[in-house]
Amino acid sequence: MKMPRLLVSACLAGVPCRYDGKSQPIQAIVDAVHKGEMVPLCPEVEGGLSTPRIPCERRGDHVINRVGEDQTEAFIKGAQRAWECYQQEGCCAALLQSRSPSCGVTHRYDGTFQNRLIVGQGITAEFLQKQGVPLFEDTHWEEAMDYWAMKKKEGGDSL
Ligand code: SF4
Repeated sequence: MKMPRLLVSACLAGVPCRYDGKSQPIQAIVDAVHKGEMVPLCPEVEGGLSTPRIPCERRGDHVINRVGEDQTEAFIKGAQRAWECYQQEGCCAALLQSRSPSCGVTHRYDGTFQNRLIVGQGITAEFLQKQGVPLFEDTHWEEAMDYWAMKKKEGGDSL
């Protein structure tokens, strides 16, 4: 039995895939990805969007970019790719970047581009949660590490 892995937002692993072409690395995640223990994925890139790209916000069930174009289809495709990857790579949880219209777990911007945060999830986070995936946000990444360590121990005990 393979040790479970964590699916992580690629920007947290140092991949420059954010809308502005930057990343937001957390060193422990970068190191784990280099060792093959975590699986980086950017749903927006997987959905076919370019980097850099016009920033998007979720508005209800749609995702709109700052110039008013509806990007919902790409975001749904990215969420589906994240779920496929999660299953293929034997993941046990997902650690995602906060506030993103794709990855945000607890909060997201409200779709007005006025820098207003509201309670709610990104498209990928919501999709993964519906499949029963345990979700963690980068602001609490240590909790994800603890959960992952517990799952690895359970996996090791059952070998
Ligand atoms: Fe990072 Fe997720 Fe945004 Fe990609 S979609 S840049 S992984 S927060």
